[in-house]
Amino acid sequence: MGVDYYNCEICDEIFNDHGHYGNCGNCESMLCGDCYDSMRAKNGELGEDHEKASWYGEYSPNYCDKCDGTVIDKTAFFEFLADKLGQTTEELEAEYRAHMQRKEGAHARTNRAN
Ligand SMILES: [Zn+2]
Ligand SMILES: [Zn+2]
Repeated sequence: MGVDYYNCEICDEIFNDHGHYGNCGNCESMLCGDCYDSMRAKNGELGEDHEKASWYGEYSPNYCDKCDGTVIDKTAFFEFLADKLGQTTEELEAEYRAHMQRKEGAHARTNRAN
């Protein structure tokens, strides 16, 4: 019985499975009603003859912002960058922490000056 809640994989909004929502016809992402509608408008619908129409429904969008690369998965992007830079994600995390700590220090100084 109950209501299940999902996070939209594009806008991160929480929606329940009794409302309007859907899946991406390509990557299967759970999409809130708003994103589902806008992805269908933007990328078109699968249509009833599509091989995946029976899985996700013929009205599912062909692609969504997640699988066409418009919305970047931060973790995957981070690993991609680390690989490009030839460093490990641990090294980059350590650098980032040092960077954030320097920034905090700068803020503290600015506040004192005011
Ligand atoms: Zn959404
Ligand atoms: Zn998708």
